[in-house]
Amino acid sequence: MEDVLFKHNFTFKKKYGQNFLSDPNLLRAIVADAGVSETSVVLEIGAGAGALTRALSEKAKRVVSYEIDKSLQPVLSETLSGCDNAEVVFRDFAREDLAEAEKNLSGEYLVVANLPYYVTTPVVMKFVEESKKCLGLTVMVQEEVARRFCAEAGSPDYGAVTAAIARRGNATVTRYVSRTLFTPRPNVDSAVVKLDFTRGGFAVKSEKAYRETVRCAFLNRRKTLENNLMSGFSLSRGEAKELLRQLDVPDGARGETLSPQRLGALSDLIFEKKGELF
Ligand code: SAM
Repeated sequence: MEDVLFKHNFTFKKKYGQNFLSDPNLLRAIVADAGVSETSVVLEIGAGAGALTRALSEKAKRVVSYEIDKSLQPVLSETLSGCDNAEVVFRDFAREDLAEAEKNLSGEYLVVANLPYYVTTPVVMKFVEESKKCLGLTVMVQEEVARRFCAEAGSPDYGAVTAAIARRGNATVTRYVSRTLFTPRPNVDSAVVKLDFTRGGFAVKSEKAYRETVRCAFLNRRKTLENNLMSGFSLSRGEAKELLRQLDVPDGARGETLSPQRLGALSDLIFEKKGELF
């Protein structure tokens, strides 16, 4: 891979988080973690030099890969030669309309991404909140972000992002990846996280009410849930207490002690009471 990059005078761009993988065992393992089979349509975000794209194309039916950096075009033409089921779209995925991208994929699909860390959470949230046909995401993230995605209620890493993901499905770390496996080498170690939207998710009466309830529960972590609900939904103390009593939430509890499912039950009650807000 480095030969091809050198041949095309490629320079790594820090602003795009260009730390590439090349270890064939790791690439195969990520494809296996994602559950890619010969019937899978895969949306990859961040093709880079195409190492993961190629590994995906060997197993999948079709791969559509986004890449923001057009200077990788000659590199990818070479590294993906012969991968007839793979196409690269040279666009910024963060600015893409997800509904449009889904139309192009025409049906259910898996997401695989090794993105710069600063765009990973917004991109993941886009799929969590807006996707209709996504079966799940397998993403390389900083270890710290992996802990946040998979955290248990009550732990310091548990937060609004954890609860948002949990509504759509299971989140698990499939492997830890040393920084030494990237070129150039980043300053942190990483982990592969699988967000499986086909199992573990739960339904709520209103997705908007759930989003608002989660936002409100973690609004001010030093405040009690009761106080956060009062300010977030303009409730009187009596109304907030009554909602929490219906769910047997103890007095003085903080938002982070409620599991995503319990936050879902709370959002259903809020939706029934304050439906006009959503
Ligand atoms: N998938 C390759 C690999 O594993 O070796 C490359 C991974 S590298 C960490 C991230 C890639 O995402 C870079 O090639 C970068 O240019 C691209 N990228 C960064 N931001 C992007 C965006 N918003 N949309 C599409 N691609 C992006």
